Amino acid sequence: MPLTFAQKLQRIPHYESGATGAEARERYQVEDAIKLSSNESPHGPVPAVLERIAAAGPELNRYPERGSGALRSALADRFELPAAHIAVGNGSCELLLAAAEALLEPDAEVITAAPSFAMYGHLAAVAGAEWVQVALDRQGRHDLDRMADAVTEATRLLVVCNPNNPTGTFHDSGTIAAFLERVPRCVCVIIDQAYVEFQLVEDPDSSLDLLGGFPNLVLTRTFSKVHGLCGLRCGYALGSAEFRQAVDSVRQPFPVNSLAQVAGTEALRHTDDVVRRVERNATERLFVEEGLTELALQTTDTQANFSWITLPEDGSAEAEVVEGLARRGVIVRAGTPLGSPGHLRVTYGTRPENERFIEALGETLA
Ligand SMILES: *Cc1c(COP(=O)(O)O)cnc(C)c1O
Repeated sequence: MPLTFAQKLQRIPHYESGATGAEARERYQVEDAIKLSSNESPHGPVPAVLERIAAAGPELNRYPERGSGALRSALADRFELPAAHIAVGNGSCELLLAAAEALLEPDAEVITAAPSFAMYGHLAAVAGAEWVQVALDRQGRHDLDRMADAVTEATRLLVVCNPNNPTGTFHDSGTIAAFLERVPRCVCVIIDQAYVEFQLVEDPDSSLDLLGGFPNLVLTRTFSKVHGLCGLRCGYALGSAEFRQAVDSVRQPFPVNSLAQVAGTEALRHTDDVVRRVERNATERLFVEEGLTELALQTTDTQANFSWITLPEDGSAEAEVVEGLARRGVIVRAGTPLGSPGHLRVTYGTRPENERFIEALGETLA
C-alpha cells in the first residue's frame, strides 16, 4: 500500500533549481563550467565572517541561541528598529513560508505578480489557500494598481518582489507608499527585498521609513545575495511585533543555526564590503547590458544582479539557446520554468565569466 499524503501535496509546484556546474561538467564534458543561473554572488563571504564561523565550530554540541538574540539586536541597531519587530529565519524563504502558514488557510487568498519568484507558488499550496497572480506590466514591472484592485475580503497576504525576480525591475518607495495606501490595513504586505541592496534608484533603506506608517508592512531581506552567504541560510523580516510572534509560533524552536547567527551578526559590520560589491555589480551590469545591446537583444530595466533577456522570435528557441550555452560551459536559467517562455535569466559573475557568457551567447545565436 502506498502512503497517503496530504491533498495539498499535489498543489505544491515542482521547483526546478538551476543546473550546477558539476552537472554541466558531467553532461557536456566541459571542464570549467560557470554557473550564472541562481543569482548567487560570484564572491565568497568576507574573511571576518569565515573566521567567526570557524571559531563557533567547537560550540556546535550546544543548541543555538533560541531567539537569535545577538543577531536580532545587531539588526535592530543597523535598522534602528526594536528587536521585537525583527524575525530571523533559515533563509528569508523560511520566513515567507512561515508567513503563509501563519496568515493563510482554505478560502483565504494570497496575491503575487506573475512571473515572479518561483517559491511564491508554495505559499498558497502549503496552506490550501488560493493563489491569485497578477501579470507584470509590459515593462516587466509589478502592476501595483491591478494588484491593489485584486484585493478581496478573502485576501490575507500580498507579496511584492522588489526588485522582481526574474525581471529585475524596481519600484521606488514613493510608488510603494501610494500602493500601500490602497491596500486595507488588515492585509499583510510583504515586500521581498532579496536584491534591494543592488538597486541604484534610491537608498536601499528608504523603504524602512514606510514601516512606521503601515503596520501591515513587512520587509524581508537576506544574507544570501549581496553578502554571498546563501549556502548558510539566513534571512530576516522587518515588520511588526505581531508578525514576528506569528512566524515564530508556527516554526520549530531553533530555526536558525549557530553558524548562521554569528555569521550574520559579523556580516552586518562590513558595510564597506557591501558597498564595494554593489559597485562591482553595477559595473558588471553595465558590461553585460552593453554586450546584450550589441547582440540586438532586449532586456528589462534591471536593478538586480541579473539580466532578463527577451530572445528574438525569429531566433533559436529558448531551450536550444540554453543548451548551446551549456555546451560552452555557461549555465543560465531558461524562462519557461520561471513562467515566461522565450526568455533567459543570467546572473552577473566575475568579469571573465561575463565575457565568456557574452561570447558564448553570440556564438549560440549566430
Ligand atoms: C534569492 C531570493 C531570496 C533569498 O532566499 P533565501 O531563503 O534568503 O536564500 C528571496 N527572494 C527572492 C525573490 C530571491 O530571488
